[in-house]
Amino acid sequence: MTSPVLPSHGRVRPLGLAQVSLTGGFWGERQAVNATATLAHCESWMERLGWLANFDRVADGTTGPDRPGWSFSDSEVYKLLEALSWESARSGAPEAEAAIKRLTARIARAQDPDGYLNTCFGHPGRPPRYSDLEMGHELYNTGHLLQAAVARLRTAGEDDLVRIARRAADHVCRAFGPGGIDGVCGHPEIEVGLAEFGRALGEPRYVDQARLFIERRGHGRLKDIPLGRAYFQDDIPVREAEVWRGHAVRALYLAAAAVDVAVETGDGELLDAVRRQWERSVARRTYITGGMGSRHQDEGFGEDWELPPDRAYCETCAGVASIMVSWRLYLATGEVRYADLIERTLYNVVAVSPSADGRAFFYANPLHQRAAGRPADPDEVSPRAEAGERAAWFDVSCCPTNVARTLAGLHGYLATSDDDGLQLLQYASCRIRAELPGGPPVAVDVETAYPGGGTVRVRVVDGSDRPWTLSLRVPAWASGATLTEGGRTRPVEPGFVRVRRAFAAGAEIVLELPVTPRFTWPDPRIDAVRGCVAVERGPEVLCVESHDLPDPGLLDTLVIDPGSAPRAVEGGALVRGRARAFPDAPWSYRDRPVDGDGGDWFDVPLRPYHGWARRGPAAMRIFLPLATDLRPSYPPIQEGA
Ligand SMILES: [Zn+2]
Repeated sequence: MTSPVLPSHGRVRPLGLAQVSLTGGFWGERQAVNATATLAHCESWMERLGWLANFDRVADGTTGPDRPGWSFSDSEVYKLLEALSWESARSGAPEAEAAIKRLTARIARAQDPDGYLNTCFGHPGRPPRYSDLEMGHELYNTGHLLQAAVARLRTAGEDDLVRIARRAADHVCRAFGPGGIDGVCGHPEIEVGLAEFGRALGEPRYVDQARLFIERRGHGRLKDIPLGRAYFQDDIPVREAEVWRGHAVRALYLAAAAVDVAVETGDGELLDAVRRQWERSVARRTYITGGMGSRHQDEGFGEDWELPPDRAYCETCAGVASIMVSWRLYLATGEVRYADLIERTLYNVVAVSPSADGRAFFYANPLHQRAAGRPADPDEVSPRAEAGERAAWFDVSCCPTNVARTLAGLHGYLATSDDDGLQLLQYASCRIRAELPGGPPVAVDVETAYPGGGTVRVRVVDGSDRPWTLSLRVPAWASGATLTEGGRTRPVEPGFVRVRRAFAAGAEIVLELPVTPRFTWPDPRIDAVRGCVAVERGPEVLCVESHDLPDPGLLDTLVIDPGSAPRAVEGGALVRGRARAFPDAPWSYRDRPVDGDGGDWFDVPLRPYHGWARRGPAAMRIFLPLATDLRPSYPPIQEGA
């Protein structure tokens, strides 16, 4: 079975990637661009910057003090290999297969006889092995190697990449197993890699090593640093933590691994701990986009309600990692809320990152860009992750390959099965050809213009005398949805709507989701956006871009009329707003409030946030301040006063 995550048990099972295929639409187009542009783009940048040649230098014995790339650059090669493996299986593209062989051959030459594999440590002129567990990323790199090997093993069987990974994993178990180094890696990832590698090979000892790493963490084994041990989640044991904190990608990779280990070892307490952390973090530390991480300093979570839109970090990788956690929790529990968050994060974090041509990416995903960035040079490495423009490549370039591997296997997130039937989770035009365990074959085609349109048409291709259950996810935002089946239409509530019968060939079930634009109000405790409202359309968060305003400066003074509902227009929505010019003053603070209302009302265009800055650098905002009729109890200050 081909799938990135295959728990040995759970409430629902993933469908194999071979059982589902995207046939176009929003995600089909993005997957195609990923295949034809992004994968080669990533390889060419890694070649150009010497990150691939680092493997050759180890093999040739020419390593030295100067080495291009950060200590985690090997992991980008492995993430690309994971993406290529899913892509090769999906499309059979000979280019993908050739790239896998090419990269694998260079990696193979760099592996030490004892299985150790790393181009930054442990060779002449380089620091010794495991001499910087806090920031060295050695085991992190190996974790990504294992995930790549899982992709290869499940799509092509045991090849050289899998054998390399097996030797590397065995080395890790010897070096860090009982009696070995009593430490953990500053960046979790080895855990999730080992757990899945163990599942893929049917070898519990790798899961045991993942469990050991998870249990060791949180006891202060890593040195304290200025950002504190919470930065790498070494402050509190996983099973005792109440909320995600510290570096967001680290926290989320660790949580994903904790779910894997909990499921494989039947550890209900550990699973409950991650569920609890998910609940509180989603309720209080997550942006409307699904983005996670509000602090630039440590790329980390803030305190509860600390969600400033302009200083949102929301790293693309944290979005990918959040999906990894929610997907595992969904498989374990079958609870629809996890699939809801995956949808939100896919449209409003993952889809935001790549440019239309798949050759430039956002790293940070702020919800408010005050000044338009500068166009990024497509021939230069961007040193600035938070620049307001997609860049071809970054100095720290974790996000492009994370997007690539996610899009390459995206069809794996559309649906699941259980003994009784099929669950449709994410709506995209696709074909599903599955076998239910001990049940009838299930063959359906889904047609939809989602998220542009809300009609989802599910057509049964092969009929059967035996009944099975088709479950469709009605997203939490979709009040007013309907289901039409056998000529009857009925209202359906958010959650799963289930249809059970012996479906005849040609039977059609139509889910109608209301994708009309709507206001969404933040909790007042998110004080950075108190007095503001956002507009959403179906699963998409919308934004105002300076491109669409008569004067870009209006973005700073725009207020909107909350009494006038957003109106749908092609490509987005309109809201009623106005903006007033304020005279500059030498001091921005006064002895009485300044009335922000005024100016003529006009239609303010909003577009999906995932497309922002695709027309060039722009200022942008998602949360819009409300025009208010509230007046101070003393005469308002006059302009120029
Ligand atoms: Zn990243």
